[in-house]
Amino acid sequence: MAQLSDDCFAHGDRLMSIAEALALLAEKAEAVTAPRRLPLGEALGRILAEDILAGHDLPPADNSAVDGYAVHFEDLEAGTETRLPVAGRITAGHPPEAPLARGRAARIFTGAQMPPGPDTVMMQEDCREEDGAVVIRPGIKRGANRRRRGEDFRAGERILAEGARLRAQDLGQAAAAGRREILVYAPLRVALFSTGDELREPGGVLEPGAIYDSNRFALLGLLKGLGCEVRDLGILEDRPAVVEAALAAAAAEHDLIVTSGGVSVGEEDHVKQAVEALGHLHLWRLAIKPGRPIAFGQVGRVPFVGMPGNPVAVMVTFMNVVRPVILRLMGASEVTPRRFPIRAGFRHRKKKARREWLRVRLEADGQGGWVAQKFPREGAGILSSMVGSDGLVELPEDMTELEPGTSVDFLPFSEVS
Ligand code: AMP
Ligand code: MG
Repeated sequence: MAQLSDDCFAHGDRLMSIAEALALLAEKAEAVTAPRRLPLGEALGRILAEDILAGHDLPPADNSAVDGYAVHFEDLEAGTETRLPVAGRITAGHPPEAPLARGRAARIFTGAQMPPGPDTVMMQEDCREEDGAVVIRPGIKRGANRRRRGEDFRAGERILAEGARLRAQDLGQAAAAGRREILVYAPLRVALFSTGDELREPGGVLEPGAIYDSNRFALLGLLKGLGCEVRDLGILEDRPAVVEAALAAAAAEHDLIVTSGGVSVGEEDHVKQAVEALGHLHLWRLAIKPGRPIAFGQVGRVPFVGMPGNPVAVMVTFMNVVRPVILRLMGASEVTPRRFPIRAGFRHRKKKARREWLRVRLEADGQGGWVAQKFPREGAGILSSMVGSDGLVELPEDMTELEPGTSVDFLPFSEVS
């Protein structure tokens, strides 16, 4: 099992662009979980820890793509109907024993192996059967409705690559190649907690000054969505000794520790002190909005991520900064979510030299496309803005004015959760 080097998230405290931060993080984070063999049916969402090579051709032999009649193309009349006696019936799973002679057709079904000889299959809808013969309409192309051996994949071909996050179709592909078990990375064990004396468990009594802890549940969803095994450590009091003990215990059993709140520079932020006592903590100053500050560090050798406290900042920073790190720790090779160009339906002013993410909802533009509309309330604490949005519009550092109608990059929440 790989391990992070000591104090691997150290860096100067100058303001960093998001691109620079992501490049640095990419250098630091590598797979920390060990590969293990799993039955294919349990591997959905896991990261593949081996290349999967095909052991055979698929399809293993030429076969029919339709229910119909296998024929020799050379037997067909060009401009008029052709009548051929039907010799034989071939069904899927029962390979033909003999070749089909010239001047004859064989009844054949979808997935059934082509007999030696014929090169074309007539769809049954384009034929009629009369007295043991089939009457075929003219106009078909040579080779129609025949699937070729190996047209899906060939023996020896790499059909799934190490580092892939397994989707339903990938499991199907591994099964098609004959794999019953595959090697995947163990899920990342993540310890998750919140900090803040104002926080209460949902459902508890809310006395004046208190709010329910929402970040932990949003983060739980984001982490589980990535396939992490999350341990919920609850809410930690803003007391250094409590936080320190909880962190030390968590480090013994987890691959990553994630917290929210308590990492800004306020006097009441005790997470920083606690992590420093047990390892290292670095506040990264990123030129982004929302999101500052974010802390990276280590508790012993276990990586630590201290997310901001504001509910929107937590989610947006997770999606853009933390998610790639976690995917790398999990062994994934693709960590950058795709952005899609979309038209902005609103005007916006921003500061230069920082990247900004706006919460937007997609609306049909009436011309078959979509237009992004900004959520009316923008505060980093307004969680309703996440609930009421479909994703984020990403505005580049050098932009200062966004005019309606401009094409912008859209990051759908579905890409990152
Ligand atoms: P902090 O970073 O601890 O100063 O928190 C910044 C803001 O986020 C404050 O308004 C906190 O009350 C709020 N906040 C921090 N943690 C949570 C949480 N787990 N759930 C909801 N709001 C939170
Ligand atoms: Mg706090």
